[in-house]
Amino acid sequence: KKDGIANTFKFYSLELYQRSSERVMLSNGLRRAIERNEFCLFYQPKLNLKTGRIVGAEALIRWQHPELGLVMPSKFIPLAEETGLIVYLSEWVIKQACSQIRQWQQQDLMPIRVSVNLSGRDFKRDRLVENVEQAIAAHEIAPNCLELEITEGIIVSHTSLTKEILAKLRALGIRITVDDFGTGYSSLSYLRNFPIDTLKIDRCFVQNIDKNDSDAAITMAVIDLARALSLEVVAEGVENQAQLEFMKRANCDCIQGFYFSRPVPATEFAGMLAAGKIL
Ligand code: C2E
Ligand code: CA
Ligand code: CA
Ligand code: CA
Repeated sequence: KKDGIANTFKFYSLELYQRSSERVMLSNGLRRAIERNEFCLFYQPKLNLKTGRIVGAEALIRWQHPELGLVMPSKFIPLAEETGLIVYLSEWVIKQACSQIRQWQQQDLMPIRVSVNLSGRDFKRDRLVENVEQAIAAHEIAPNCLELEITEGIIVSHTSLTKEILAKLRALGIRITVDDFGTGYSSLSYLRNFPIDTLKIDRCFVQNIDKNDSDAAITMAVIDLARALSLEVVAEGVENQAQLEFMKRANCDCIQGFYFSRPVPATEFAGMLAAGKIL
C-alpha cells in the first residue's frame, strides 16, 4: 500500500511536470508561431433547418506545432489570453477568414458567411475596428459575410469601450453573434441595448435535450426569445438525429454540430459546398 501512494505521487508529479513543461513549450512557441504562420483555420458548417443547406461556417483555430502536431485551441487560447498575445491571433484570424471568404467567392461557391471567435481582450482596444475594416477592404468582401462571435461573458462584463466598439463594427455591416448564450449569468437587458444579430445556444443545453426537461425548456425559451427580438438563433453541438428533430420542431433557424460535420480544413469545406452536400 505504501508503494501505491509513492507511485501515485510519482505519477502525479510526473503528470504535473509534463503538463507544465508542455505549457512552457506552448507559451514560448506562441509568439514564434505567429511569426512563422503555424496556425490554420478549420471550418464547421452551419445549416439552415428549413432548406437543409449550408449557410455559413464557424472558423476554429488550430496550431500546427512542429513537435506536438495539431494543437487544439483549448490548449493555447487561455495562454494567449493570459499573455495578451491573443490580440495578434485575433488579428490573424480575421485576416485569414476574410481572405478565405474571398477565395471561395472567386471559386463561385455560394456567398458564405464565416464567423470568427473573439476574446474579451479584443474589446479593450480600439484597434479591432481598424483591423476588421482593413481586412474586409483588402479582400473586397461584403461586410455581412463576416460574423463575430462574442461570448455572453464578454457582453455581461462590458465597459463603455466594448459597447462603442460593437456599435462601430455593426455600423460597418459586420454581424454579431452572442456565443454560449445562456451560460453567462444575470440580466437579459443587454439584449435591448446591444447591437446583436444572432443568439447561439450553448452546447451544454443541446447535449441532454432529449433527457432533461429543463434543458429542453430553456432551449425552447431561448428560441422564442430570439424570435420575439427578431434575432437569428443557432444551436451548437447537435450530435444526433434526436437533437436535430428537436431543433426542427422548436423552429430553430440553424444548427451546427458533429451530426452533420466536424470542423474541417478549408479545402474539405469547399468540397462540401461544391458537392451541394445537404442535411
Ligand atoms: P466555441 O466557440 O464554443 O466553438 C465550438 C467548439 O465546439 C469547437 O471546439 C467545435 O469543434 C466544438 N463542437 C462543434 N460541434 C460539436 C459537437 O457536435 N459536439 C461536440 N462535443 N463539440 C462540438 P474547438 O474547435 O476545440 O474550439 C474550442 C473553443 O476554443 C471554442 O469554443 C472557442 O471558445 C475557442 N476558439 C476556437 N477558435 C478560436 C479563435 O480563433 N479565437 C478565439 N479567441 N477562440 C477560439
Ligand atoms: Ca464560437
Ligand atoms: Ca459556442
Ligand atoms: Ca461553447
